[in-house]
Amino acid sequence: MSDIFYRPTWAEIDLDAVAYNIKQMKQKLSSSSNIFAVVKANGYGHGAVKVARAALEAGASALAVALLEEALELRHSGINAPILVLGWVAPDYAKIAAEHDITLTFFQKEWLQELQSHMFSKKLKLHMKWDTGMGRIGIRKDEELQSLVSALKSTEKVQLTGIYTHFATADDTNSAYFHEQQKRFQQLLEVFEKLWDAPIDIHIGNSAASIRFSSEMYDYIRFGIAMYGLYPSEDVRNEKSIDLKPSFSLYSRLIHVKNLPKNESISYGATYVTNGSEWIGTLPIGYADGWIRKLQGMDVLVDGKRMPIVGRICMDQTMICLDKEYPVGTKVTLIGKSGKDEIEMDEIANYIDTINYEIPCMISERIPRVYK
Ligand code: PLP
Repeated sequence: MSDIFYRPTWAEIDLDAVAYNIKQMKQKLSSSSNIFAVVKANGYGHGAVKVARAALEAGASALAVALLEEALELRHSGINAPILVLGWVAPDYAKIAAEHDITLTFFQKEWLQELQSHMFSKKLKLHMKWDTGMGRIGIRKDEELQSLVSALKSTEKVQLTGIYTHFATADDTNSAYFHEQQKRFQQLLEVFEKLWDAPIDIHIGNSAASIRFSSEMYDYIRFGIAMYGLYPSEDVRNEKSIDLKPSFSLYSRLIHVKNLPKNESISYGATYVTNGSEWIGTLPIGYADGWIRKLQGMDVLVDGKRMPIVGRICMDQTMICLDKEYPVGTKVTLIGKSGKDEIEMDEIANYIDTINYEIPCMISERIPRVYK
């Protein structure tokens, strides 16, 4: 989508809030731990390049993404900071990563062996992934570790610069499984240290682990959701050990306002019928913008007051029930503050029975992001 937009619906991204959240995290971390700003999925929907720059300026030293495409977008925009791809990239494309000084994640011996059939102009930097209990990607056993290390030692094309794992339950106040994963990591690390003596970066923690176990984070943390000002879970939020500022607001404007008498229906399926004389406003946002149909009934804020979404959400438009007549052009807050009230990502996530991570990711590219 082009940067020019004509529609009166937009997301506002507060990059000062991103910087604030990084600084809050830095205050908790030991001085030897650095920050990977996790900007995968277009910076959790906030805009990867803009967030990456703000994060680096605020004190992050590196970036992490899920895809090679995402890493290349950052490089092509002129960002020179270290970039780690957290996901699996086919060995056929590893040389593209090497050319752009992008670090890849690996955990399969066959993957390393396949690199042998490709030409590399520069050494490929690699981080090895250990699966200590997430059950997603990574090596699990000592034997796998030993065989990967010996394969690494026999290839000139790569340079191992890091090892890492990922926690499945760091956001839960019950830390038993977190500690079990930590123990498994420690066991693998003991084996590794006997096999490897070159310097290596170690990182284990996402936002939740970094906030809750700040002093145990080794060389880097991988800071995602909390950088955007969202708490990784209700538990972490209730612990009140870090203050975060949300960075994503969503706004629209009334494009049509009408008074309807009792018993008139609104939108597809005629699922909403007016109870009496009602002021109905129309907003130019719909499910094609990621404002999904399940949000029917959710509140928006007009002039600091809550007004419900009535009738089915359409592909491009949504109707709300107003408490009085408002002029066309009135600003409506779908996410964020208006007057003394606020609609938080968490409230929207709870309403549609999901996690806050999903909300900014689901607001589609059709919604322009405006930065302040
Ligand atoms: N590390 C890995 C491997 C991840 O997959 C993610 C996100 O899913 C993160 C770090 C960042 O996690 P969070 O957003 O909870 O900080």
